[in-house]
Amino acid sequence: MADVGIIQDGAVLIENGKISAIGTTDELRKHSTNAAEIDCRDKVVLPGFVDSHTHPVFANPRLIDFEKRIAGAHYEKIAAAGGGIRSSIRDVRESSQEQLASHVLSALHEMAALGTTTVEAKSGYGLDAVSELKSLQAIRQAAGDWPGTLVSTLLAAHVVPPEHRDDPDKYIRIVCDAIIPAAAREGLADYVDAFCERGAFTAEQSQNILHAAVAHNLKTRIHIGQLTHTALEDFAEFHPASVDHLDHLTDADIAWLAKHDTIATLLPAANYFLGLKEFPPARKLIDAGAAVALATDYNPGTSPTTSMPFVLSVACTHMKMSPAEAITAATVNGACALSLQSKKGSLEPGKDADIAIFDAEDYREIPYWFAVNRCYKTLLGGVVFPSEGTSSLLRSAATIARAAGNSRFAW
Ligand SMILES: [Zn+2]
Repeated sequence: MADVGIIQDGAVLIENGKISAIGTTDELRKHSTNAAEIDCRDKVVLPGFVDSHTHPVFANPRLIDFEKRIAGAHYEKIAAAGGGIRSSIRDVRESSQEQLASHVLSALHEMAALGTTTVEAKSGYGLDAVSELKSLQAIRQAAGDWPGTLVSTLLAAHVVPPEHRDDPDKYIRIVCDAIIPAAAREGLADYVDAFCERGAFTAEQSQNILHAAVAHNLKTRIHIGQLTHTALEDFAEFHPASVDHLDHLTDADIAWLAKHDTIATLLPAANYFLGLKEFPPARKLIDAGAAVALATDYNPGTSPTTSMPFVLSVACTHMKMSPAEAITAATVNGACALSLQSKKGSLEPGKDADIAIFDAEDYREIPYWFAVNRCYKTLLGGVVFPSEGTSSLLRSAATIARAAGNSRFAW
């Protein structure tokens, strides 16, 4: 993870939305004499960020939570004041698909402006069949209006909705017997996720959800170990692409991750926003040989940020990841967490031309200048954002970090 594959005075040749060659500017000019160029002198060129964990289908910010939590209130008091996840559920149920899609799309535009080119987007604030499917439709609608890549995840098992509080197993049956089959039938989800946590779903309930996912040919990922510990090995049979949060891990979990292709996705912006002193054990995971990814966890309750550069900064300062490790985690390892490593996450011939260009002379400046946007331009499948039409040669007289350093995966 510490090798980002730097090319000084590098260039990327793009044809038909794909990378056709990468090397030094002199080498590539010999290949292609008539390509249009983007001048990237004094810039850093990276693979676009892969934000592999977001919850963008919500309607309103949760400002009551924010203010009450600052004043020291606990979850119950926040809920009693009209905040908490119940307010997001009510808002999503009352919103139209168009309203939700437009919120998702504006988040995607923000993300692209910050260098993100691939996003995983979860449902999870509808929590009934109609509203969960409406949320997935909203994701699909937004994906159609965005030149980047969207991966869709059904998170009907986010929390038990208020009307099923007294009988959570009844809700799980609805998820397994109605919502998952409908999402699979309509091709609305790539993945099924579950929130395995105190106050959400037990390990056994989460396993039931993932069994139903596998039965309908959907891939799995899971929120686990955020507030309390659950053994990762209990979920081995589902071959989850990613296990996410991981604030509470044992040595056995870390050893298990080091031996398997499941990605350890860490979400330190949530720890930051909740004002926590503890962060996930990134150093232990990386040193043991686990593949770590970073994502924003963009959501209205615990991580209202679309900024991958900010997440990189928190990963460096609070989890002691090196800038190079953070970039690998936010690009090629994020692609692995979405099973997209053959197309995304690094600058290599044959991959999609998903590229972020930063106003910096050294890649370490990206996490260093925190809470400002140094992203100069983003290319999504060769399409320049902010819009300028398509381009075919991208030249940098400074630095290209290819992020080809994850040797655990072949493409
Ligand atoms: Zn999440």
